[in-house]
Amino acid sequence: MSKTISYGRQTIDRTDVEAVTEVLISDYLTQGPLVKAFEKVLCEYTGSRYAVCCSSGTSALHLACLAAGIKDGDFVITSPITFVASANSILYTGGKPLFVDIDPDTMNMDIERLEETIKVSSRVRAIVPVHFAGLPCDMERIYRIAVERDIVVIEDACHALGAMWRGEDDRWYKVGASSHSHMTVFSFHPVKAITTGEGGAVTTNDRGLYERLKTLRDHGIIREPDRFIHMDSSIEPPPWYYEMQELGFNYRLTDLQCALGISQMRRIDEFVKRREEIACLYRELLSEYPFIKTPEVDENNYRSAWHLYPVRIDFDGLGIDKGSWFRAIAERGIRLQVHYIPVHLQPYYRKRFGYTWGDFPEAERHYLEEVSLPIYPLLTDDDVKTIVKEVVTTLTCASARLSV
Ligand SMILES: *Cc1c(COP(=O)(O)O)cnc(C)c1O
Repeated sequence: MSKTISYGRQTIDRTDVEAVTEVLISDYLTQGPLVKAFEKVLCEYTGSRYAVCCSSGTSALHLACLAAGIKDGDFVITSPITFVASANSILYTGGKPLFVDIDPDTMNMDIERLEETIKVSSRVRAIVPVHFAGLPCDMERIYRIAVERDIVVIEDACHALGAMWRGEDDRWYKVGASSHSHMTVFSFHPVKAITTGEGGAVTTNDRGLYERLKTLRDHGIIREPDRFIHMDSSIEPPPWYYEMQELGFNYRLTDLQCALGISQMRRIDEFVKRREEIACLYRELLSEYPFIKTPEVDENNYRSAWHLYPVRIDFDGLGIDKGSWFRAIAERGIRLQVHYIPVHLQPYYRKRFGYTWGDFPEAERHYLEEVSLPIYPLLTDDDVKTIVKEVVTTLTCASARLSV
């Protein structure tokens, strides 16, 4: 193969380049009119009342945890099968992540286990469900469990811009509408559904949370005169005046990045549709090979955004060393990825909280078997066919127990 295919990549066209170039020669590079414009686009697309864009998905998660009021000693539940940022953001606020093992069929947090964990722990302040690979969690159940106990729900939807699910009322809900959560977090890293380079956003329907998110994104600074503390409201404040009322951050997204975001959002439906087609083609082509387990989506009730195409292969059972096989297929131009090393097994988490192998068996089995096949809009049908052929050939070569 002549080109290298990686597990994910951005889709940039001329209109994106022009949109960014236009900003570059305009008056504002950072906090101009496009920040609000991008937030408006995100609201229109997700159906959420408010959106706050910020410098990355990670900073968006951090802001959401802060706005949720998570503080020292609070427990926050999340999945061990996620990017470290989901759990790290909890740590930034002084909270302690509690992991709930996954359901191997959906690869999302197991809701039965979530209920058990909540019952034994009284200090759970928030839940951060992760829509793994773009498949939404059962938000109706999660939200019900949470609301009963006054627990905040922050959806980590970094994989799931464009995903939907059908409610018990038969309506389709979009991820990001925050219809069954308090806040939803997105990432615009280049491998995600749309990109702004680095970038992220929080959507919410709660005015109070929206104000908190905006203030914390901007150093904790307030610029609206009616919210000033140290000014007599009957006197007009001087033009330069602003107040820092709490310790915030510079987590802002720039106009340059928002221009790219707005331009990308024009094609979001196209992007998701193409990812869906690729997932379909993979399923069809891989159905002949029972040793590769493809992800199953209950299409009557869920529409995945297909951020990843996670397959499971029983490497141990087949007598294949996963690492060697990974290197062999990379040499043939296909760079796969594994999502994820369970967060609780990261050295930092083991050392700090004493986690070890065996703590979350489904997540660990997932880690040993999971491989993410390339999926992104620019991948052609021929690319997909080549990938399947290479995966099957290299697996067969590596295993004494397989023959074509
Ligand atoms: C990408 C990602 C993040 C972090 O987003 P960044 O924009 O890279 O900071 C958080 N959670 C999940 C599940 C992600 O995939």
